[in-house]
Amino acid sequence: MNIENYIRDIQDFPKPGIVFKDITPLLANHEAIEACLQLLINDLKEKKIDKVVGVESRGFFFGMLLAQKLNAGFIPVRKPRKLPFETISASYELEYGTDNLEIHIDAIQKGERILIHDDVLATGGTAKAVCELVEKLGGEIVQCNFLMELSFLNGREKLKGKDIFAALTY
Ligand code: 5GP
Repeated sequence: MNIENYIRDIQDFPKPGIVFKDITPLLANHEAIEACLQLLINDLKEKKIDKVVGVESRGFFFGMLLAQKLNAGFIPVRKPRKLPFETISASYELEYGTDNLEIHIDAIQKGERILIHDDVLATGGTAKAVCELVEKLGGEIVQCNFLMELSFLNGREKLKGKDIFAALTY
């Protein structure tokens, strides 16, 4: 099973000049889901994860599956004004301007061991903001975990000192 065969390139999405990695063919195939999950889990079972933090919205798919496999809870990080309870927020840079991500203030207890998961590590701005949220709440980040890393965008630079795992690297 080669999971790369289930990820397709979409030219000029969401805007001209961008080649978007579309994971919906992977999500539609149960063998590809299983193969992907095995890769993502790697050695995490030994790392005693308390909670998986998944990033809206494509980080929710495998984030929740990882949580279930690791006997961990799942915490959503969402775009502004989506979470109903009290939140803290962190900003990250877009091409033009900034945006925010939010997490519930009671989502993580001090010292809990956290796995951050998202589908893609691109420039790293999103993952960096999520790290800030987790650390503000006192969580210990065990790993930043991605389906894909677009290595030519140097996202790792923004996550210095963090353990980074990607199932696929482009
Ligand atoms: P970054 O902040 O690292 O530049 O971008 C990562 C975020 O943008 C992730 O939440 C990811 O879902 C989304 N993203 C950026 N490029 C792609 C892409 O080519 N394919 C998919 N599926 N998501 C992308």
